[in-house]
Amino acid sequence: MEFHIDLGPQYEGESIRKEDFYVEFGGSAVKYKFERATLKSPEEVEHEKVEIIGSDIKDLEEGGSYPLAILIDVAGEELEPDMEPVIERRIHMYSNYVEGLWHMAQRNDIWLRLSKNSFKKGLNSLREVGEIYNFLFTSEIPQIEKIQTTFITDEKRIEELLPSALEVYEARDARARELKDEDVDEFYYCVLCQSFAPTHCCIVTPSRLANCGAMNWFDCKAAYKLDPEGPIAGFPKGECLDPLKGEFSGANKIVAEKSLGNYDRVYLHSAFEHPHTSCGCFQAICFYIPEVDAFGIIHRDYGGVTPAGLKFSTMAGDTSGGKQVEGSCGMALELLRSAKFFQADGGRKRLVWLPKEIKERYKEFLEADGVYDKIATEEDVSNTDELVEFLEKVGHPWIKGEVELPG
Ligand code: SF4
Ligand code: ZN
Repeated sequence: MEFHIDLGPQYEGESIRKEDFYVEFGGSAVKYKFERATLKSPEEVEHEKVEIIGSDIKDLEEGGSYPLAILIDVAGEELEPDMEPVIERRIHMYSNYVEGLWHMAQRNDIWLRLSKNSFKKGLNSLREVGEIYNFLFTSEIPQIEKIQTTFITDEKRIEELLPSALEVYEARDARARELKDEDVDEFYYCVLCQSFAPTHCCIVTPSRLANCGAMNWFDCKAAYKLDPEGPIAGFPKGECLDPLKGEFSGANKIVAEKSLGNYDRVYLHSAFEHPHTSCGCFQAICFYIPEVDAFGIIHRDYGGVTPAGLKFSTMAGDTSGGKQVEGSCGMALELLRSAKFFQADGGRKRLVWLPKEIKERYKEFLEADGVYDKIATEEDVSNTDELVEFLEKVGHPWIKGEVELPG
């Protein structure tokens, strides 16, 4: 295959700065965006077809941010529906193989940038990106017998299709919520993001999905089956050393090995002492607020600041890079629904600040813990002094000392 630009894992670590992109797709400035892989029957897939619905790169104005949906349809006798999320996550990996193309996040959070350099070299059409996907997917995953790629840049069309994609994501997450760490003997790890964060290793258990939100325990199981030599693999969870903090001998061993000795312990359910590392594509950050000795969460798409006056991008800089950062943990938003959500630290009952959108999205779970109407949002407070005041006024159970830490 001949392309205008070079391809390979060596491009995975490259980032594209604001001044250097020709166009970008998705990101927080764009409302409608998602990516999705779908398993179809062979008759439904026209092999190696690339379709573009809406404007192509060359028709777009330089420097702009545009909506985008990426649809990858695959067929193959050995493929299983469980493998859809795995194939979908590979969009991230293969996009980053492309010289001058950068891909971040997943599902309905995607963010892509094309560099001016690669545009100049001739990568001026999504058709070529689709041909690259078709080529990489079939050469790297032999179980894919047929593939077709569709790009949609037409905002209305993406808006129409987004709800069905959200339903699919939700169905995947709902199934995963049923299972707990105690129910299985095998956990999984993923080192797909080591190209950006060399000491980062996601530990995925039934009660803790991966930071990117794109991989739960079932997805990892399917990924391992699809590609036993790939970045995701299973390991025996070993002895449970601390059920509350979520410390397991098997996970410690893997973290020591995959972080090249940088870390030798990991707590899956605590933000203190040995918290999980964060790469760069977490959906949200759970952060400690010293003034109230409690936690807040900020997510990637939230454009405002925390009560401490910090933006997501600033906080992400301090959280990412594959470090264990006490009191600042990258996380999947879906983790908010886990029964073990930072359970050693007080869990959802110790949350005191959330962006309004997140508070509403997880209302049911926050209500069940009796904190929904006690949590401040950007509409209630704009600095930590006001936060302290707010929490006292509403009588947040954590502030009143009514939440007992387990153990
Ligand atoms: Fe894998 Fe974790 Fe990166 Fe997701 S965030 S792709 S699970 S390493
Ligand atoms: Zn990552």
